[in-house]
Amino acid sequence: MTMATTAPSRRDTQTSSMKPRVLIVEDETALVELLRYNLEQAGFAVAVAYDGEEALTAVQEDTPDLILLDWMLPLMSGIEVCRQLRRQTSTANLPIIMLTARGEEGDRVRGLDAGADDYVPKPFSPTELVARIRAVLRRIRPALADEALSYADIVMDLVAHRVTRAGKPVHLGPTEFRLLRHFMEHPGRVFSREQLLDSVWGKDVYVEARTVDVHIRRLRIALNGDNEADLIRTVRAAGYALDAQG
Ligand code: CA
Repeated sequence: MTMATTAPSRRDTQTSSMKPRVLIVEDETALVELLRYNLEQAGFAVAVAYDGEEALTAVQEDTPDLILLDWMLPLMSGIEVCRQLRRQTSTANLPIIMLTARGEEGDRVRGLDAGADDYVPKPFSPTELVARIRAVLRRIRPALADEALSYADIVMDLVAHRVTRAGKPVHLGPTEFRLLRHFMEHPGRVFSREQLLDSVWGKDVYVEARTVDVHIRRLRIALNGDNEADLIRTVRAAGYALDAQG
């Protein structure tokens, strides 16, 4: 029994960081718990703010992928939170779904005018709400809405953090996983080494451009096995692309 005891927890962390993150902004605790339960079951990572000001702070500290924003909130209304988020460049395009007990057409228009991407009147079915969340995410960032990505014969299960090619498991290190995910989110597009560094390693990380080549090579070896076609195209002087035509 010499299995490394740190491996499972590290993988858990990576898996949860892959989940789309939803911030619930709602002051009714029973509804918060219902939403939290349903969203977690649906594969989302959930954070909660109980009033408008807390919501703004939460977004600033850790920007979610989508906000479920109740209209009637203590301290600051959902509409005002929505307006403030839209005014800041960093959150101008953050997906927002407004929840509200008000059902009047004029309210719906006001909600959308304030910059919400969708508007869901209470009471709602959690299943339908999850479908609306996925629809908004799919429109704004396609890969976030789905739990799996596929391209040619590669399938990436983003929840279980597993990759298969032609049904056979592919074992990737964390960097190769993120690289492949980035390619699978933008199939056919050519990325320069610098663009890959920014998107996959992060803008604040200093890594030499040739590090990209090292990880591309590892990714190729893992994906191609002994005799699979190479789906990663090297574009001379430009970069790399995931491309079945290459
Ligand atoms: Ca409320």
